[in-house]
Amino acid sequence: MAKMSWAVGTQCVAKGDHRKLKPGELAYNKGDILTIVDTSTKKGYYQAKHNTTGEEGLINSTNVREREALRVDPGLSLMPWFHGKISGPEAVCKLQPSEDGLFLVRESIRHPGDYVLCVSVSGEVIHYRVIYQDSKLTIDNTQYFYNLIDMIEFYSKNKGSIATTLLKPKQKQGAKSAELELSKNGWLMDITKLILGETIGEGEFGAVYEGEYMGQRVAVKIIKCDVTAQAFLQETTVMTKLQHKNLVRLLGVILHKGLHIVTELMTKGNLVNFLRTRGRSVVNSVQLLHFALDVCEGMEYLESKKLVHRDLAARNVLVSDDKVAKVSDFGLTKVDSKVSDNAKLPVKWTAPEGLKKEKFSTKSDVWSYGVLLWEIFSYGRQPYPKMSLQEVKEKVEQGYRMEAPEDCPPGVYSLMRICWEQEPRKRPAFHKLREKLEREMAKISPSPGSQHGDGIRSGC
Ligand code: ADP
Repeated sequence: MAKMSWAVGTQCVAKGDHRKLKPGELAYNKGDILTIVDTSTKKGYYQAKHNTTGEEGLINSTNVREREALRVDPGLSLMPWFHGKISGPEAVCKLQPSEDGLFLVRESIRHPGDYVLCVSVSGEVIHYRVIYQDSKLTIDNTQYFYNLIDMIEFYSKNKGSIATTLLKPKQKQGAKSAELELSKNGWLMDITKLILGETIGEGEFGAVYEGEYMGQRVAVKIIKCDVTAQAFLQETTVMTKLQHKNLVRLLGVILHKGLHIVTELMTKGNLVNFLRTRGRSVVNSVQLLHFALDVCEGMEYLESKKLVHRDLAARNVLVSDDKVAKVSDFGLTKVDSKVSDNAKLPVKWTAPEGLKKEKFSTKSDVWSYGVLLWEIFSYGRQPYPKMSLQEVKEKVEQGYRMEAPEDCPPGVYSLMRICWEQEPRKRPAFHKLREKLEREMAKISPSPGSQHGDGIRSGC
């Protein structure tokens, strides 16, 4: 039974194909994602928009189910067939009762660092040693792979030089196939429907490409290393839960040669570059405040979900075609407040308690938001100009704070200062910051809801 209480914005997955249309109905195929846009049109029906074709029409509520977020599950694995360090005889035991094409991968005990592909065929188990050579993996010195995921994908479709194609993974106990979970909930996309375009960014862990998926323009982050891909599954899982106009939206993932993370395309790139390349003569202070408000609203939403971003900075805010700023990069987003590796912390954006005690909370995000406000109003300058990271750490601890950027409205600078209160509890919550920013907007812009636009500068 479909729930009858779905709200506008709910994402649904089609349970089957719908091609024989009555007037006003929307066409879709099994697994397509549809967004509810109106709940009041006709009893038992919703007005919905097709996420990929953009078409709108009526859908029968019983033909769709709600697209569910993925549960954060440590067992969720891109490599559920990987059993770690087990011996050959142990692998043989695990592959009983024998079944042609049943397989697992283990780490070799005799040759540490090498992997072994174990496959059941005609009642026996064959062990293929996987050799690591020139940063690639190979079984036969003919086919080479970047990672194990890539190798398993290949031998699942081609026999190559092994005895049988891989038909069924023997899952490690406790491991859950990410592929299955993603597909069950409508988050798995199809590589054959993706057209990859130019590179538009270079992340720490992989390149970002522009692309097209069934007619929709998308951004695709490709993570080739299997260990990193597994870690990014966490980011992706978090993103499946988050739907807000000021958060970059996850469309789905593709499991192919590692992990492809597909998001909405933010054609104007990251906020730092946007501001640096346009500057004061093009972007007015109303637009700057719009960006500040956009980010604040995205963060207010994260705050309401009790999620801490931990890497909020203008480089992690992206700008859409219609100049809406959206928070991205949820790589560090966690419900818990401890980090294990503080060598990687973005010092100039991190609150003092984060640097000293590795304590992270919504209030440490508020500190970072203050730095981001400074970046916005200085048109993308590097914070704490000319200061080393060590100097920033020491001076900020002693009470030093950045000066106001040139021409920054005093009201906005005082917001930065309250974000930089030493004591986390003295910093405002994001919902309070939003109210204050709206008041600032009312001061400098005659109509608060005015269009985002590159106009003549007003106010400051
Ligand atoms: P990092 O790994 O450094 O956190 P990302 O991999 O998320 O960064 O992104 C690197 C760059 O790629 C961004 O700064 C941005 O310019 C571009 N980019 C990332 N995601 C998108 C997107 N959805 N739309 C447009 N550009 C994007």
